Amino acid sequence: METTINKTLFDGWGFDSARPVVIAGPCSAETEEQVMDTARRLTKTRTQIFRAGIWKPRTRPNSFEGVGVKGLKWLKQVKDETGLLTTTEVANAQHAYEALKYGVDMLWIGARTTVNPFTIQEIAEALSGVDIPVFVKNPVNPDVELWIGSIERLQKVGITRIAAVHRGFSSFSENRYRNAPNWQIPIELRRVRPDLPMICDPSHIGGKRSLLQEISQKAMDLNYDGLMIETHPDPDFAWSDAKQQITPEELGVLLDSLILRRPISATNGFTHKLEELRGEIDRLDQELLNILEDRMKVAAKIGHVKKDNGITILQPARWDQIISKYLEVGQARGFSDEFIRKLFMAIHQESINTQTKVMNG
Ligand code: PEP
Ligand code: MN
Repeated sequence: METTINKTLFDGWGFDSARPVVIAGPCSAETEEQVMDTARRLTKTRTQIFRAGIWKPRTRPNSFEGVGVKGLKWLKQVKDETGLLTTTEVANAQHAYEALKYGVDMLWIGARTTVNPFTIQEIAEALSGVDIPVFVKNPVNPDVELWIGSIERLQKVGITRIAAVHRGFSSFSENRYRNAPNWQIPIELRRVRPDLPMICDPSHIGGKRSLLQEISQKAMDLNYDGLMIETHPDPDFAWSDAKQQITPEELGVLLDSLILRRPISATNGFTHKLEELRGEIDRLDQELLNILEDRMKVAAKIGHVKKDNGITILQPARWDQIISKYLEVGQARGFSDEFIRKLFMAIHQESINTQTKVMNG
């Protein structure tokens, strides 16, 4: 099984696809000097593709919304002077026409665009007959189907080189991350579309410099093909996303720090060991389900007792007791509070559903 180097996935993309493929550059193109300074300094790292946002989708109005078309000339200059390939975000058909006109090598679709089938369709039509490589970021909401749908719309107009970019998912609750990674979603995309290269964007997942290395390493351990990392000559003074950008030199250090684990080779005994351990995991998962099934049967019995005595399903004090108790037990066993909370909330919700059926059945 191919697990580490997916060289073939980037065949025909026009660059050396040694893993990880690196896309770097500022969140936004600000000035010609800032763009050129970043690009020149990036040539000393293993960056292959230079990124810069020209039209910026900002959450609130009155923020810097990008320099517009003049930035495309700077991208052209980057390409001519440094030989780096260039990419920018297109969020509507007009952007796509302009980017093509100025010879941008690759395009990316932002998270706020992937959510909208109409916009994607318009962009796809603007690109019809132009087989340019496109990076498709995940939609802001955790919906793998929507992500796949956008990719399919682009494929339908004849775009053959598409990579998925995992940039995390927004949520209402305060989180360690700016955009929660929900790793299971890109993993699911990979399962159903193993033909697509997968790029991680640790900048938008983490939202802060201190998390970039850890997220990048995790992506490598999950066998991602590349990284997109925002890089600025003077990050604290960036006009957008200042907290998450790093200098080209810091990017170099980060890339050098990544541990690329060996591919699985069928010839070493390690494949066998791995299969054995996976078998063990499968058995344990099966047991977990058996136990959960028993637990739900008890929950159903409780439902009957509650029904017969005319009391409500939810007993908040009881629920509070359960969660406090297991947070403590979980801590003693080395589980994070977040995991215990999520686990018991899911189990509790399923019990409530079971009891609701009993009550109303
Ligand atoms: C960006 O890459 O700067 C950007 C706006 O990304 P996203 O669409 O992931 O928010
Ligand atoms: Mn950004």
